[in-house]
Amino acid sequence: MRIGALEGGGTKMVLAVCNENGEVLDRVSIPTETPEITMPKMIAYFKEQQVEALGIGFFGPVILNEQSPKYGCVGNTPKLAWKWYPVLDEFKKALQIPVGFDTDVNAAALGEATWGITKGLKNSIYITVGTGIGAGVIVDGKMLHGMQHPEGGHILVAPHPNDTYKGKCPYHGRCLEGMASGPAIEERWGKKAYELSDKKEVWELEAYYVAQGLVDMIMLLSPERIVLGGGVMHQTHVMDLIRKETLRMVNKYIDTEELSDIENYIVLPSLNDNQGILGCAKLGMDALTAAK
Ligand code: ADP
Ligand code: ZN
Repeated sequence: MRIGALEGGGTKMVLAVCNENGEVLDRVSIPTETPEITMPKMIAYFKEQQVEALGIGFFGPVILNEQSPKYGCVGNTPKLAWKWYPVLDEFKKALQIPVGFDTDVNAAALGEATWGITKGLKNSIYITVGTGIGAGVIVDGKMLHGMQHPEGGHILVAPHPNDTYKGKCPYHGRCLEGMASGPAIEERWGKKAYELSDKKEVWELEAYYVAQGLVDMIMLLSPERIVLGGGVMHQTHVMDLIRKETLRMVNKYIDTEELSDIENYIVLPSLNDNQGILGCAKLGMDALTAAK
């Protein structure tokens, strides 16, 4: 089976062909320019690769309400060339194959839940901490949608008493993304995040904010496991700080086997950075099954 997978990001598009066993058979990446420039290139790739179906995980916000006339469009994004662009319809029209569509983080959550570290669990969350912060949520085996989709990066956090940073989010200032994304770290400390590896105070503060986000999600959604991905998590030493902070903030209020085994509860991704693209492939497989 040849399934097309498209991980659509604000800076690059990753295009791949996968099979039903979660193997990546081919993969290319092209810069994200305007739809007029980038769409024809992507369509040509998937045609040439003769895929049977396509799964798309796209940078949000995207419209996932199937009743909406804008279903499958990009929503209110600062990337103005893509705002309201009908990604799903354009691919369907051009390729004439089943196409699945969701957010990039929901796709990553689905990739891990299908082939990775949350396989077999019905309720899990995948959080990316990178240029932005996003959360893909799987509840009872299905990706959580609603009026739109969760925006877990924009939950509000309590500022640390010693942190005077104003926050990077243009909408909320000091939301989780505003305080803990890669660009927030870089603006607050005046250096690239990877250059700050040995600065203990940087990662203690990062853990303080990320843990608040995790605690809110734990309280609200009761995930059986949480995966933390994204560029900032390449600082793997921050994982232990986040685990400790999370337990400190939960303060024994929740007493489950999962939380008592915190190293297996808050974990790194397991698919060599293929979780997003493989999740897209699963979206494509599901679209194919639904079309049969
Ligand atoms: P994106 O979110 O754009 O899809 P990434 O998940 O790679 O891409 O996130 C990019 C962000 O992650 C940047 O802000 C960068 O500073 C940060 N980042 C990338 N690599 C590292 C690293 N090794 N250590 C800390 N931060 C990193
Ligand atoms: Zn925000």
